[in-house]
Amino acid sequence: MFENKLVLELLERYRVLWALGHASSLMGWDSETYMPRGGVEERSVALAELSLLSRRLLLENIAPLVDKLVGVEGLNDFERGVVRVLWRDVERLRRIPEGIQYELAKLRGEAPVVWREARERDDFEKFKPYLSRIVELKRQVAELLGYDEHPYDALLDYYEEGLRDRDVRAIFSKLTPSVKRILERILSGDLYPREHALESVRYRREDMEAVNREVLDILGFPWDKGRLDVSAHPFTVGLGVSDVRITTRYEGVDFRRSLFAVIHEFGHALYDLQVDERLKMTPIARGASLGVHESQSRFWENVIGRSLEFAEVLKSTLDKHLGFTRGYSVEELYRYFNIVRPSLIRVDADEVTYNLHIHLRYELERMLIAGEVKVSDLPELWNQYMEELLGVKPKSFREGVLQDIHWSLTSIGYFPTYTIGNLIAAQLKAVMEREVGKLGDVVREMKFNVVREYLREKIHRWGATYPPRELIVRALGEPINPEYFIKYLEDKYLRV
Ligand code: MG
Repeated sequence: MFENKLVLELLERYRVLWALGHASSLMGWDSETYMPRGGVEERSVALAELSLLSRRLLLENIAPLVDKLVGVEGLNDFERGVVRVLWRDVERLRRIPEGIQYELAKLRGEAPVVWREARERDDFEKFKPYLSRIVELKRQVAELLGYDEHPYDALLDYYEEGLRDRDVRAIFSKLTPSVKRILERILSGDLYPREHALESVRYRREDMEAVNREVLDILGFPWDKGRLDVSAHPFTVGLGVSDVRITTRYEGVDFRRSLFAVIHEFGHALYDLQVDERLKMTPIARGASLGVHESQSRFWENVIGRSLEFAEVLKSTLDKHLGFTRGYSVEELYRYFNIVRPSLIRVDADEVTYNLHIHLRYELERMLIAGEVKVSDLPELWNQYMEELLGVKPKSFREGVLQDIHWSLTSIGYFPTYTIGNLIAAQLKAVMEREVGKLGDVVREMKFNVVREYLREKIHRWGATYPPRELIVRALGEPINPEYFIKYLEDKYLRV
């Protein structure tokens, strides 16, 4: 796998950096799960200091070797992947001064706390100075990193290697009109309801936890390499190829929210767990990009989890632990899992309207970064775009501009990766069905090992060996194409 002497030395040096990343990830996981509230300040400083230490290690110890390896011929794919991934990190850090990096790292600790308070009190003014500073820093970062066409390109590329503003624009100009057309037709029919009685049925937390654990068993979650915990916002942290943590939430009502969070995070976890063992502790033992990662979670959550066949699989587990589902048929459960309604909150959005929420954020972010609008313009613009895209208008900041944590985490340019993930998931389904047969049959027969192995072979085992675009073409035979997702929606929602 790794033979080149310089690459072997590079990997040896990298292991310290990996260990720091491992520690930071564990601290991040702890911050969201078990850390007492009072720990936040010290944790932010500790994380910011570790990020500076990593920076120095990378620039002083690793960069000189990376420089030597760039352009070296005769490296195999894995070796080239290692050099590519580290080169991206080195290049970025060389362009961003330590002061900016430290300030951003510290803001990532503090701003989410302020954002949470602002959201609770519905007070945009409270969050505004933080967001303004973050946008200011990110605009500087874009200039420092450089770009060919649009400053937003520089930020997109960080989360999704090779993705440009023009690509995102092309995707939404195809996707949004089709989604709006499909949505109109769904809303004028009555098979996919806007509301369902099960939404307001309460559950006991321990019952729901039993459901979640059994569903993870069914999907094939390896408990000796993973954990399920609780956090306000469900997430996955991959500490290594043999230690992956997922979380969900228990709100006590509308059980599909807890359930589908688990299935979603399972998809993320499986990706990290199925990276080739031999890549562990290297810079390529990670997903190819955020978009590709999200495609895995969306594939399990929506393509599999929200299918009629999966409702069939779930029925006995739900009846056993929740009881109240006994009065509902498989078809009724399926309808409950697939309620379609234009709503205000992205994380509650169904798979039809979800990308419209992303489209809105994309438009606002690129204008912010281009300096075309100010942070103080955001609430008004947000509402305007909501009306245009979804036909609903927030009555509070909480339901509008203050709903997402991402900006407070200094993540600008991240949102489009969600849509990339949705598109790849649908495309993956089409290709898998050509090669393996109808997914519905595989699911009904509960042959999830077939799905896991397919994904391992096509995508997971490679880690970040190839850039995301190359991986997608290798795995799916063509670049990202929104037509698959549009067809997926039409087949599921209109041809019934
Ligand atoms: Mg996700």
